Amino acid sequence: MKFDPASNIQDLLQFGEYGDVNPSITDSATFTFMQANTMLETFHGDAEGCFLYSRHWNPSNKYLADAMAAMEGTEAAWVTASGMGAISNALMHICNAGDHIVSSITTYGGTYALLANYLPKFNIETTFVDISDLESVKNAIKPNTKVIYTETMTNPLLVISDIPKLAEIAHEKDILLVVDNTFTPMIITPSKLGADITVYSLTKFVNGKNDCVAGAICGSTDFIGSLIDVNSGTSMLLGPVLDPLRSSQILKNIHTLHIRMKQHSTNAMYLAEKLSEKGVPVVYPGLVKDKGHKLMTRFMNPQFGYGGMLAIDLETTERANALMEKMEIEGVGYLAVSLGYFKTLFSCSGKSTSSEVPEDIQHKMGMSDGLVRFSVGLDNDIERTFNKIDKCMRELAIY
Ligand SMILES: *Cc1c(COP(=O)(O)O)cnc(C)c1O
Repeated sequence: MKFDPASNIQDLLQFGEYGDVNPSITDSATFTFMQANTMLETFHGDAEGCFLYSRHWNPSNKYLADAMAAMEGTEAAWVTASGMGAISNALMHICNAGDHIVSSITTYGGTYALLANYLPKFNIETTFVDISDLESVKNAIKPNTKVIYTETMTNPLLVISDIPKLAEIAHEKDILLVVDNTFTPMIITPSKLGADITVYSLTKFVNGKNDCVAGAICGSTDFIGSLIDVNSGTSMLLGPVLDPLRSSQILKNIHTLHIRMKQHSTNAMYLAEKLSEKGVPVVYPGLVKDKGHKLMTRFMNPQFGYGGMLAIDLETTERANALMEKMEIEGVGYLAVSLGYFKTLFSCSGKSTSSEVPEDIQHKMGMSDGLVRFSVGLDNDIERTFNKIDKCMRELAIY
C-alpha cells in the first residue's frame, strides 16, 4: 500500500479528557503526582504516560508531535518554538566539538548562517556543496563528518535533493542524513526515502495561517528520547519548547493540510505553465522541463501535486522590485517573506530570505539578483490571479 500521510493523521484517535474532539489544552508548566516514586521514574523517563514539566513534555505538545510523527512515518517527534529551534537542536545534538557537516549550499538563509557563522564557534565546521552533484557530496565527506544536511526542495532555487542516494552515501559511512521538509509536507516523506531525521518549520505550510512561529524534529524514539534527556538532551537543556496553546492551534490546522497542499499545488502549476508560455524563466518542479521534475515524480506521494513554491528570474533587482510592488497594488498577494500562507506571498530572495548568503556565493549557487520567489496561495480563481500578474508584467514591459 502507498504511504498516505493524510490518512495517517486522520486515523489518529486524539480526544480530550471529557471526550472533547479537539484535545484539551494543557495549560500547565508542571504536573502533580500522587506517588513520589512515580515522579522519580518520570524524571528518568521510565513512567509511560506521565508528564513532569512542560519544557520536557506537555500533553498538547505530545498530540502535535504524534501527528507530525504520523505524517512523517517516524517513530517519534518533538515540537519546537521555531524551525530554527528544530534545525539548530537536531544538528547540535548530533555533532560534538570537532565534528563536521556536509550541507547543501542552497538552504534557508538562517540555516546557512547557523552553519557558516554560528556553529564554528563550537568548532563544528561545514562544507557546502551542490547537493545535486553526488560526487561532490562524497568528496566532501571527512572522517569526522557526522551529518549530511539538505532540504527536500531547496530554498530558493527549488532544487530537488535525491534523498535515497544521499541516504545511501550517508549510511555507507555511518553518517546521519538530516532533511528539512518545510516546503513539501505530505508531498514528500523523507524518512520513507532513507532520511534519519526530518526537521520542519511548522510556521509555513503545516500551520498555514502565518500567526505563529513553530518547528518540529521527527526521528527515531531513541533520537527524540536522547534529545530531551534531562541530563544531556540538547532540547531539554537549551529549552526551545513550543507553547502548548500554539501546539493545540497547529494540531487543528494540520488536519486540513492535505487539502491546502493540493490547492497550493494546483494554483502554482497553473501559474508556472502560464508564465512559462509567456517566456518568463520559471523554476517549478511540476513543469516537465524542470531539472527536478523526473526525480521528484519518482519519489513523491502522488496525490498532493508539486507544491506551492515557484520562482521566476527577472534578472535584476530593479525589475523584481517593480513587479512585486505592482503585484501588491493589483491584489496578487503580499510582498513578504515566509511561505505556506493562504494568500500569495512574494519576495526577492537575494535581498530577503537569502540575504545571509554573501552575494558571491548567491551567484555561485546560480541565484540571480532578480529571482522572485512565490509562495502561491489558495486562490479560488487562479486564472483571475494570473490575469493580474499578466497585467503587471505587460505594464512593466517584462514581456
Ligand atoms: C522558514 C524556514 C526555516 C526557519 O523556520 P522558522 O520557523 O522561521 O524558525 C527553516 N527552513 C526553511 C526551509 C524555511 O522556509
